[in-house]
Amino acid sequence: MSSIQGKVIAITGASSGIGEAAAELLADHGAKVVVGARRKDRLEKLVAGIEAKGGVARARAVDVSSRSDVQAFIDFAKAEFGPVDVIVNNAGVMPLSPMSALQVDEWDRMIDVNIRGVLNGIAAVLPDMKARGSGQIVNVASIGAHVVVPTGAVYCATKYAVWAISEGLRQESPELRVTTISPGVVATELGDDISDPATKGFLKDLRKSALTPDAIARAIAYAVEQPDDVDVNEVIIRPTTSSL
Ligand code: NDP
Repeated sequence: MSSIQGKVIAITGASSGIGEAAAELLADHGAKVVVGARRKDRLEKLVAGIEAKGGVARARAVDVSSRSDVQAFIDFAKAEFGPVDVIVNNAGVMPLSPMSALQVDEWDRMIDVNIRGVLNGIAAVLPDMKARGSGQIVNVASIGAHVVVPTGAVYCATKYAVWAISEGLRQESPELRVTTISPGVVATELGDDISDPATKGFLKDLRKSALTPDAIARAIAYAVEQPDDVDVNEVIIRPTTSSL
């Protein structure tokens, strides 16, 4: 029997793309999923779709860059279903640009969402998981945690940070499972907010060989469904035809 069954799984960035696909797949396998993002209407549609298939899900608006918001999201999950067994820190943004464009507000946004958002998610679940002596923290990094490309300096820096945070947490937490998921290029809404036209074109070209979000959802499910004594440390998933 799948060990996903009955688990309480909180997923950030679930209003589209990888988070949405992960919520659907994990709910299909019997998890009680709690989905968060800023676009509540999209989350409510997702919950309705899961419930229509007989699954169990709840939605709550959350801005992961706010520590108190993320704590409220996790408290909501606990109030609905009991202690959170798994958090998937998936919310992320990718407004790529060359550094010379000095899009400093976009740099800040990537740091706030991609790094602080992950730290906020960890802080919200860690005390309970440590007290219970079990739990799993899944952080969605990127192939950009391993490879740096022009226009990706800050984005890749945030993903290197996610990789380092996961690795450090794993080493410090023998009672917990910590997993880094590092996707290559996936067809989602990520990067729709790129302001630089040349960079938009670069991403469009890259997306010609993109995976669909369900490929990453399957990797997340694989990591979650392992027995408690198996910690899938990292999964890198790239399109067969691409090194990004
Ligand atoms: P999407 O843009 O489709 O999804 C991003 C999600 O993050 C949305 O649900 C968005 O919801 C949410 N989000 C953004 N900002 C915030 C915020 N401040 N608070 C809460 N939620 C937020 O992209 P993906 O599904 O592709 O991205 C998911 C993760 O996968 C990201 O971490 C991304 O870096 C990573 N990744 C993606 C790759 C790809 O090629 N697509 C490759 C490698 C990694 P809302 O706007 O409603 O808040």
